[in-house]
Amino acid sequence: MPSSHAGANPGLKRIFGQTAEKEGVTLTAIRRRAQRQLSKFGVFAREQLDARGITIPPGVGLVGCHNCALTLDGEHPQAEALYAWIEGNVKLAKNFKEVEVLFEMLRAAEHPGQTEPVNSCFHIGLTSAGPVAYFQEHLCTPQGNA
Ligand SMILES: [Zn+2]
Repeated sequence: MPSSHAGANPGLKRIFGQTAEKEGVTLTAIRRRAQRQLSKFGVFAREQLDARGITIPPGVGLVGCHNCALTLDGEHPQAEALYAWIEGNVKLAKNFKEVEVLFEMLRAAEHPGQTEPVNSCFHIGLTSAGPVAYFQEHLCTPQGNA
């Protein structure tokens, strides 16, 4: 597998260190990093949910949109508590974004030159088997309308 070169991307340099610029970042390195960040996010989110008495299952879906804030995806019996958890939760938004950036990088490395559909939003599903990350078409709605 050829290594995709990091180029002058300061984000890559920050995440992967100085060697990234010299030797390029391999797909494997990005994938490993993305998975690790996702696991960390899963642990962080579960701790916060536990503290609020929200148990999994049922799974909790989170979606991050380009045009709106992080929000709940799909139905959940404790949706109200989840909205309260998400709203104004800077740390959650920041951690979510860190995972999103890595998975976007991974997607770009896996499909070079491919433009992504505008409605493709980043999702993290918190399940009893662990967190899952994926891009999926999503009809963005302003937060708090559910
Ligand atoms: Zn969206």
